[in-house]
Amino acid sequence: MAHHQNIVFMTLVVFGIVLSGLIYLVYTSTSHRYKQPRFCHKIKKEDQENSLLHLQSPYGLSYKQPSVVSPDGKVVPVAPWLAPVVWEGTFDPTLIDSIYKQQNITIATTVFALGKYTLFLKDFLESAEQNYFVGFRVHYYVFTDHPEHVPAVKLSEEHHLTVLTVPSSNRWQDISLSRMARLEKLIESRLFNEADYVFSLDVDSKFYGRWGVETLGRLVGAIHPGYYQTPREQFPYERRPESQAFIPSAEGDYYYGGAVIGGLVKDVHEVAKTCREQLDIDASKSVEAAWQEESHLNKYFLYNKPSKLLSPEYLWQDFKPHTNEVKIIRYSQVIKNYAAVRPNK
Ligand code: UDP
Ligand code: MN
Repeated sequence: MAHHQNIVFMTLVVFGIVLSGLIYLVYTSTSHRYKQPRFCHKIKKEDQENSLLHLQSPYGLSYKQPSVVSPDGKVVPVAPWLAPVVWEGTFDPTLIDSIYKQQNITIATTVFALGKYTLFLKDFLESAEQNYFVGFRVHYYVFTDHPEHVPAVKLSEEHHLTVLTVPSSNRWQDISLSRMARLEKLIESRLFNEADYVFSLDVDSKFYGRWGVETLGRLVGAIHPGYYQTPREQFPYERRPESQAFIPSAEGDYYYGGAVIGGLVKDVHEVAKTCREQLDIDASKSVEAAWQEESHLNKYFLYNKPSKLLSPEYLWQDFKPHTNEVKIIRYSQVIKNYAAVRPNK
């Protein structure tokens, strides 16, 4: 009997040691993520509900790269954290429209058109009017240094447009980088009051198909059309540890395009604010991530998983040949002459 108690005692001791080891490991491996959930009993109910919605994952976790297209060529409509990936056939437009119709929502949409990029506005806006949240309230916020070049496009009844004048830049990298800071500030000054959801979209693009309420979610990212069948170690993430956008080669879910960021105003504010802070840290060390704010966005989305993903139907590139899995191209980057439209190389 005494012998039996000894075994029980020893088992408990070993178990205790292993458990403390595990707790230590989990603690250290998560200690440098963006926002650490704290185990605190006095946490406000509202904050607790909010943080339960967030899908944070720790640094350094090892798991299989999610696939976008299965080996038999079928598209995969769900991410491994159970977020839907929106493809043609995964939603019923009539049903989903009628559900959201009852919610009286406003979708803010920010578009930057600085320097020569104002020439993309006409096609962007005209094609959006045909395809983008048709029948829902949309408010476009066009940031430009040339307000006189913003074309007069006839908008449908529930769609509105505000032009916001900003100073010019002579480096495209700065224009691209400053989008996060400007989005952050616009959300603080206006969107918290004026909208429910916000999308930030590249202007050098056109809509060719429906982009509607199926794209709405708490936090929404789009899978980049150039890398959806690429092994994660070949993603063009920032690979230098000195950048805040650094992602080790063994990590990564998808490569997200910087041309699309969306979600609830509050959640997009968190993305813009965090990325802007990380960009500032990099800038203070004269580091510029491989793909500027897109690299920082990819880092954010890796450790703060989007609640909904848009398939490459929602972010294509006109020069890319059509593929079997992408049945409809809805929004696509137009072909541009970089030397002609950008202020610098
Ligand atoms: N942009 C701009 N003026 C510029 C360069 C960029 O307004 O001179 C804005 C514009 O909204 C553009 C976005 O920044 O869609 C991203 O830049 P770009 O499209 O050139 O990057 P790419 O999609 O080619 O990586
Ligand atoms: Mn672009």
